[in-house]
Amino acid sequence: MPRSGPNKYKEDILCSFCGLPQKDVGFLIEGIESYICESCVGFAQEIIDERKTPIENYPSADPSTPREIKEELDKYIIGQSAAKKAVAVAVYNHYKRIQEQSNDDVELEKSNILLLGPSGTGKTLIAKTLARILDVPFAIADATVLTEAGYVGEDVENILVRLFHAADYNVEATQRGIVYIDEIDKIAKRDSNVSITRDVSGEGVQQSLLKILEGTEAKIPPEGGRKHPEQPLITINTSNILFICGGAFVGMEKHIERRVSGTGIGFDREIKEKLKDDQLLKHVRPDDLINFGFIPELIGRLPVTTALEELTEEAMNSILTQPRNSLIKQYVRLFEMEGVQLEFTKTAIREVAKLAMKRKTGARALRSILESVMLDIMYEVPSKKDINSCVINAAVITKNTKPVYKKIAKSA
Ligand code: ADP
Repeated sequence: MPRSGPNKYKEDILCSFCGLPQKDVGFLIEGIESYICESCVGFAQEIIDERKTPIENYPSADPSTPREIKEELDKYIIGQSAAKKAVAVAVYNHYKRIQEQSNDDVELEKSNILLLGPSGTGKTLIAKTLARILDVPFAIADATVLTEAGYVGEDVENILVRLFHAADYNVEATQRGIVYIDEIDKIAKRDSNVSITRDVSGEGVQQSLLKILEGTEAKIPPEGGRKHPEQPLITINTSNILFICGGAFVGMEKHIERRVSGTGIGFDREIKEKLKDDQLLKHVRPDDLINFGFIPELIGRLPVTTALEELTEEAMNSILTQPRNSLIKQYVRLFEMEGVQLEFTKTAIREVAKLAMKRKTGARALRSILESVMLDIMYEVPSKKDINSCVINAAVITKNTKPVYKKIAKSA
């Protein structure tokens, strides 16, 4: 128990929170090897009250139209126009539905989203950016580690634990957050699954996801891990949590193609003739997802489906330079801190984009290419006291030559 501090003022006794001496704050409460003054008690109470207050107006940033949401997304995500538009509308409707919830007898369904698209094309980035725009808590989960309750692996509820932590242990905020579930395609049922035991990695997990996706009162252990009988559980209502699921869906084209060519005539046939394989994903329909191995109930809980495109070399080029926090801008900023002006020539940027295209891991390759190019340079630059300019040209990227270092006289 805390008790009143020493009555006599002593020079060396300080409030352990603000650091002021007892003589300035008048009165200190003593804990185990620590003290707190009256004004810090007041602050602490304010923090506690804040935590307890329901955040009624969540999301705190309230973009007024889908167009505004899309324009915000444009600042960070290159291309992927169709996906950004679909997501903007879905998110707008989702939060409108939350605000209007109790006033209407028409029940608006939750617009959870399914993003299909090759790896490294911006699926996670879209989900993450949305959460930032709306200022709501955000968590990422990986579907491949999920299992049904009782099996080795993570319980589905652990996704909510992560969101709860991202929301700083605030239940109200958690209930309005966004969760991105990556690699959702990996929990499809496989045709080859002939096991007589239950399908731990496929249908069972889909079943357990169903509940939290549609809205349930989930009981979570606040610190995560397995539920223990003696551990107090927290109830999280998932009805207003927006779930965005993403996956590459390798092999999905075959299902779409089979359906399309089966029709023989009409619109579907025209689609097939016009499109290359990697553009087929755009035309995915619920029955294709079922053929891929999803249970119809789960598809029903993901009413908004949209596809992301393979990135072109041009898009890679823009990703390097345009977004607010683009890789090149980040390196330039790092060098600025060293007092060195860093420049990438246009051809150097083009070479990085070209190399990334070859790796087939989407924009993720850009970072690893640049990191390996920049490692030696970043090792050297801080010890080069006689330069203030560093130019990276195409040869640095393709032939591993040294950049052009210079000392430029500054005009007064
Ligand atoms: P995935 O589609 O596999 O979820 P991510 O969204 O995680 O891919 O993208 C990996 C990285 O590549 C991101 O951190 C981001 O920097 C970059 N990136 C991918 N796509 C885009 C894009 N369309 N615009 C801008 N950056 C992108």
